[in-house]
Amino acid sequence: MSRTCVNHREAAASVMCHRCHKPICTECTIVTATGSFCSAECNLQHAMFKQSQARGSIAPGLGVFGWVFAVILLLIAFMVVIHFAAKIFPPLEGIDVLGGFIGGIRKILAGN
Ligand SMILES: [Zn+2]
Ligand SMILES: [Zn+2]
Repeated sequence: MSRTCVNHREAAASVMCHRCHKPICTECTIVTATGSFCSAECNLQHAMFKQSQARGSIAPGLGVFGWVFAVILLLIAFMVVIHFAAKIFPPLEGIDVLGGFIGGIRKILAGN
């Protein structure tokens, strides 16, 4: 009960198209990096489908690690701003995380 190729009734289908699932013989199969297809059109449709899926993510081209990296950079930038603002406006020293961190390191280096 082996299926036959949609294009060749006499040839047995070796694979199914990755896109439209038609049975196709080795002669009709277009093998690409993304799978086996019955035609160039199916290959293109599959590529477009994959692309639209990628576009569906939250940050296209950036990725989760890109976002985490951006947030960390923003936090560091914020701490630096607070640190310098505290020099001008001392009441900010209470939230000067960077200043506290530097002070801690200085204490360790001083052996105290
Ligand atoms: Zn197809
Ligand atoms: Zn065929």
